[in-house]
Amino acid sequence: MIRVNGLRKTYGEFPAVVGSDFAVDRGEIFGIVGPNGAGKTTTLKMLAGLVEPSAGTATVGTYDAGDPEMRRSLGFLPEESPLYEDMTPRSYLRFFADLYDVPRDVARERTEETLDRLELEHRERRLGDMSKGMKRKVAIARSLVNDPDLLIYDEPASGLDPLTTNYVLEFTRELAERGKTVVFSAHNLYHVESVCDRVVIMNRGQIVARGTVPEIRDEHGSTTYRVFTT
Ligand code: ATP
Repeated sequence: MIRVNGLRKTYGEFPAVVGSDFAVDRGEIFGIVGPNGAGKTTTLKMLAGLVEPSAGTATVGTYDAGDPEMRRSLGFLPEESPLYEDMTPRSYLRFFADLYDVPRDVARERTEETLDRLELEHRERRLGDMSKGMKRKVAIARSLVNDPDLLIYDEPASGLDPLTTNYVLEFTRELAERGKTVVFSAHNLYHVESVCDRVVIMNRGQIVARGTVPEIRDEHGSTTYRVFTT
């Protein structure tokens, strides 16, 4: 589904991502783990076509990352999702469905189904008055309005309480069970170990370890976090 070769991004002289290579299979949940500034967001934005690589290639299916056709079948969840505070979840999701030309009746049904699956309460409340966890659920629902094949989630569980964190991670696993491919980033191996098929660990723009979570644990054991800080 995704093939990344020699992907690199420099901001001025600063190398944010230094020659990444990885591939993600269809239906897989793939984690990118690393500390602040590791290059996770930059990598995800290059996959989503939101940041132009300085070198290398990223393809999604048969498209180059960023191709307008590919972007229509993509759901991107940014680390901080700006929501229109005066809208309700329903009006917000239908607004985005319109942007994707989703027929009104399909949008209505899909929106209700997604909000039910996410168990979102207080659907008539203004987004501005919702808790962080509720807002994150609405942002996740927004990433699904166009029924995309590929979901790119930037730290979907960060800043949430343990219950909501588990909820979001569990929901991510359900999405993959329904055939979606999911790439998501996290600071913490704990956030990926229960859901990811494979993981890369990034530090200072480089992939420093890769494999299944047990493989990474076996390879690095208790030194995994030293990988982050060296
Ligand atoms: P975090 O966990 O804090 O979100 P991250 O792993 O997502 O970190 P990135 O946001 O990709 O890391 O940033 C990687 C590096 O690139 C950081 O040092 C960051 O300051 C730098 N960087 C990111 N975007 C820009 C930009 N637009 N201009 C200059 N430098 C940038």
